[in-house]
Amino acid sequence: MLTLDFHPTGRHFLQIPGPSPVPDRILRAMSLPTIDHRGPEFGQLGLKVLGGIQQIFKTKHPVAIYPASGTGAWEAALANTLSPGDKVLMYETGHFASLWNKMALRLGVVPEFLAYAGKDEHLPHAPGWRRGVQPDLIEDRLRKDTAREIKAVCVVHNETSTGVTSDIAAVRKAIDAAGHPALLMVDTISGLASADFRHDEWGVDVTVSGSQKGLMLPPGISFNALSPRALEANKTAKLPRAFWAWDEIVEMNKDGYWPYTPNTNLLYGLSEALDMILGEGLDNVFARHQRWAAGVRSAVNAWGLPIQCADPSVYSPVLTGVITPEGVDADAVRRLIHSRFDLSLGTGLGKLKGRMFRMGHLGDSNDLTLVAMVAGVEMGLKLSGVKLAGSGVQAAMDHFASHPAGGALRQAA
Ligand SMILES: *Cc1c(COP(=O)(O)O)cnc(C)c1O
Repeated sequence: MLTLDFHPTGRHFLQIPGPSPVPDRILRAMSLPTIDHRGPEFGQLGLKVLGGIQQIFKTKHPVAIYPASGTGAWEAALANTLSPGDKVLMYETGHFASLWNKMALRLGVVPEFLAYAGKDEHLPHAPGWRRGVQPDLIEDRLRKDTAREIKAVCVVHNETSTGVTSDIAAVRKAIDAAGHPALLMVDTISGLASADFRHDEWGVDVTVSGSQKGLMLPPGISFNALSPRALEANKTAKLPRAFWAWDEIVEMNKDGYWPYTPNTNLLYGLSEALDMILGEGLDNVFARHQRWAAGVRSAVNAWGLPIQCADPSVYSPVLTGVITPEGVDADAVRRLIHSRFDLSLGTGLGKLKGRMFRMGHLGDSNDLTLVAMVAGVEMGLKLSGVKLAGSGVQAAMDHFASHPAGGALRQAA
C-alpha cells in the first residue's frame, strides 16, 4: 500500500534539514492561479523577487533563479565560469562538499580535494566531517600555485550533512593573503536566510543556494548570486552550457522575465517568503535560528551524546548532528522514531551512514515544535536502548524558558 494514502492526525514533524516545514502563508500564496509568463503581471512579480533575493544574498549584483534543485545551481556555477581541464580547489567538509567535488569531475574540470588531517576521538575515519574549513590550508595551497593554475576555490558554507558552518570571510582573506586570483564559489544551499551570509562584503564570486531550506519554500528553485568577476570569467569560460547560461538570463531578468518558463507558483511562494523574512529583518531571523540551535544543543548535551560538530565556534544554526553510541544504528533509531511518532530526522550521509542522525531547526518552527522534536528523539533513543545521562526535553524547555526570544541572543551558547 502506498503510505501516502494514509493521513495521520496532527502535523507530520518534518525535522530534516531541508526540505523544511513550509508556512501556511507560503502554501496559500502558491495556490494562486498560474499566469502568463510573458504577460505584464509576470514582469512585476519577476522584478519583485529578483530585487528581494538580492537583499537576502546581500548583493547589488545579479542573482540567477533556476527552476531546478540546488544541484542544478552547483552545475551552473561551475559550467558558467570554468573551462575543460581547469583546476579547482575544493574542501572536504562533508557529504555535500564531496558531491560537488564529484560533479566537478564529471564536468571535466580537475578538482583537488583538501581535507583536515587531524585526529578525531569519535569518528576517526572522518575527522574533517566534524570541523569547518581551515582557511590556512587554502592559503598554503594557493601560495604554492605559483603558475596560478587554480581557477576557483569552492567551499560549502553550511555543511548540511554535519551541522558545521564555515567562516567564509576568512576563506576570502586567505585567498587575498596568498595574492591569488582564483574565484571564490560558495554553496549556502542550507545556510541562506538562516545563517548570516554576505555575498558582496565577503567577496564571494558565485553563491549557490536553493529554495527548500532557510527560505521555507518547497524544493524546485535554486540560485546563483554573481559578482562582476564571475560575469567577466563567464565571457571566456569554455565548458558547454545552454540552459544554465547566465548571459541570456541576466539580460531578460532586467525586465523581470526569463528565457524559458520559470517556476511561476514557486515564485509566488518566493515573493511571500521575501515579505516574511525581510519583514522580520535578517538579523532577527539569524538570532532566531541561533537561539533554536542552542536550545536543541542543550538537549543533546543533557543526553550526554556527542554533537557531530566538534568545534563550538562553528556550530550550525540550521541543524544539529547527533552521534549515536558505538553499536547503535542511527538509522534504526530514526526509522523507529518515524514509525512511532511521525517525526522525520535527517539520515547520516556518506561516511556518516548509521553513525549519526540530524535534527533540523529551520523553516516554519517555534519553541514548542522543537521541544516536541526533542521529545520524539528522546523517546526513540530510550526505546532503542540508548542510555541517556539526563532529560533533553527538560534541558530544552529550561533553555527556551530562560532565554526569551528577542534580538539579543545572536551568539547564545
Ligand atoms: C540540500 C543541499 C544540496 C543539494 O541540493 P538539492 O536541492 O538536493 O539538489 C547541496 N548542498 C547543500 C549544502 C545542501 O544542503
